[in-house]
Amino acid sequence: MNTPVPVSFEFFPPKTEVGYEKLLKAHDELKVANPEFFSVTYGAGGSTQERTIETVIELNRRGVPAAPHLSCIGSTKETVHALLTRYKEAGIKRIVALRGDLPSGMMGTGGDFNFASDLVRYVKAEFGDDFAIEVAAYPEMHPQAANLDKDIDHFVAKAKEGADSAITQYFYNVSAYKHFVDEVRKRGCDIEIVPGIMPITNYSNLARFSDACGADIPRWMRKALETCGDDVQRIRSIGLNFVVDLCNELIAAGAPKLHFYSMNQSGPTLAILEKLNK
Ligand code: FAD
Repeated sequence: MNTPVPVSFEFFPPKTEVGYEKLLKAHDELKVANPEFFSVTYGAGGSTQERTIETVIELNRRGVPAAPHLSCIGSTKETVHALLTRYKEAGIKRIVALRGDLPSGMMGTGGDFNFASDLVRYVKAEFGDDFAIEVAAYPEMHPQAANLDKDIDHFVAKAKEGADSAITQYFYNVSAYKHFVDEVRKRGCDIEIVPGIMPITNYSNLARFSDACGADIPRWMRKALETCGDDVQRIRSIGLNFVVDLCNELIAAGAPKLHFYSMNQSGPTLAILEKLNK
């Protein structure tokens, strides 16, 4: 399949064997779009972390580069070093470096890192250019930031620690992306800022999740999706058109690549890619 710009796809670590088999199937189906890489998110605790590690190593073994997300909050330098060494030995060449969020109720960090910039600096110092480093960007502002200007300053500082490229939180306002990129460039930072794209398949889940992560669903989109009620097919069809338009507008605005939050499914993402202006 031809895509107008290079693409990458994100998975989350499945909790069950059935989920894992579904992920591998989605992975094999998404390969048709010749992705630059697949990434796998990293949770705050215990067993899902090991799932991320196993999944990303297996995906990488299957041919297309795979990149683990790595959140540093609450971690020590020793544990991060050990994990990165394991990734390096498995042939992993890219990571998504994040602060992450402490589980609610946990006070302080109890670790060696306060912000993603601390992790980027540490990885560069210890591993040089062994890993390409992706960082997170928030065109509509990180929910905990004091204000948008400060958040962009922090983003630029993080990029200047040695990040190679950034992936954004998903958003549906193209102008927010354009403003963010302009402001970053004004601050003398030229790393690629790749829009994160969330396909729309289930309106109530999307609304809940968007509230939590600070992504705005424009009123006109909300109203259109709300009128679909429980008609899943209609939500998918309207949502598909919205997201195809969004991607085409982003590419026209200069987005260098697209990163899709696949939700471990191939269908919704491939449907978007099929309809993009080639
Ligand atoms: P940072 O860049 O450290 O920023 C966090 C906040 O601190 C911002 O408000 C920033 O303005 C502020 N800040 C930064 N530096 C300073 C400073 N020096 N002084 C004061 N304030 C500062 N979460 C997971 O748990 N697992 C994942 O796999 C995961 N993957 C993600 C992938 C992408 C593409 C994105 C966009 C987000 C992802 N997240 C993930 C969510 C992310 O962990 C949270 O949004 C988290 O709250 C912030 O992480 P960050 O790396 O953006 O933090």
